[in-house]
Amino acid sequence: QEGDREAMFLVNEWALKYFEDILHHDVDGIAIGLQYFRSRGFRDDTIAKFHLGYAPQSRHALSDAALKAGFKREYLIKTGLCYERDNGELVDRFSGRVIFPWFSLSGKVVGFNGRVLDSRTHGVMQKYVNSPDSEIYHKGNELFGLNQAKQAIRKADRVILVEGQADVISMSQASAENVVAGSGTALTLQQIRKLHRFTENITLMYDGDDAGVNAALRNSDLIHGEGMNVSVLFLPDGQDPDDFAKSHSAEQLQKFIADNSTDSVIFRINRTLAGVTDPIKRSQAINDIVNSVAIIKDPILRDTYIRECAQRTGIPETTLIGQMNRVIRKSL
Ligand code: ATP
Ligand code: MN
Ligand code: MN
Ligand code: MN
Repeated sequence: QEGDREAMFLVNEWALKYFEDILHHDVDGIAIGLQYFRSRGFRDDTIAKFHLGYAPQSRHALSDAALKAGFKREYLIKTGLCYERDNGELVDRFSGRVIFPWFSLSGKVVGFNGRVLDSRTHGVMQKYVNSPDSEIYHKGNELFGLNQAKQAIRKADRVILVEGQADVISMSQASAENVVAGSGTALTLQQIRKLHRFTENITLMYDGDDAGVNAALRNSDLIHGEGMNVSVLFLPDGQDPDDFAKSHSAEQLQKFIADNSTDSVIFRINRTLAGVTDPIKRSQAINDIVNSVAIIKDPILRDTYIRECAQRTGIPETTLIGQMNRVIRKSL
């Protein structure tokens, strides 16, 4: 219902102000929340740009204030800002967490993500808690930072996709403003299509572990299926972009990106063939590469990759093209 959605956006808009107000003006908000962000190296202008906030420890602080301001219990629950216990008690979802709001492309607050501050509570409490999916929030459709990054993405004609919110924020602070995050390495067609409105070019900047590399290879196929170009970029020794951006200058970050971005298909060819000499395994590896090239929409680009693959493997181009065409016909 349109009325429901409107009411939910109004509650979220109010909650955004509430969390920000607590962070900047409440004694605990300043001592705990603002201090946490500053200890992570987030500047005050960055904190303002991303509208970061803090939710008080008390599990009723937000709900009491919202009800007092005239908002209905129903919409506090529908937005997921609060939830109801079996005994009917209304409880704040994000209490005691720092708040990362998620905005739609039109600048409306669609949801929130709250992080625990104390690493000792990890394991006891989930590190990050999201708004639940609702009429206005579908986790798989949203990208953190896109509303702030969209002009920079158009200007650079490229978007850099990272795993986490802190990565977006630290990179933005290091003058890399064309950066957005999904939730971890999960990526959906809806998210890709949203990015396609602003650019043809995506760089996946994931952790350099197996999970990050495998996700990048998987997501590259999805992105190629939408007719976009993909590069991949991995960070050394278990660092994430937030760690890297904080231990390097803005210039070093730019240089790292420029020097280490690799075309995703070239990366796939290198990685898939590396050290594989057994003939059966090698032919499987080549088939994997051909399967990925077959997804690409631009025939000239496909041929370019096939030539590269032929040169690398010694398999005649005509053989690879024949196999690719079989794969393409089967997918029609
Ligand atoms: P930090 O630097 O604050 O410790 P991170 O961004 O490095 O966090 P990761 O564990 O790398 O955290 O997760 C990447 C992103 O995935 C997070 O920023 C968050 O958006 C999302 N995420 C991770 N764990 C959860 C979870 N349990 N629930 C919801 N979202 C999550
Ligand atoms: Mn296009
Ligand atoms: Mn991370
Ligand atoms: Mn991190």
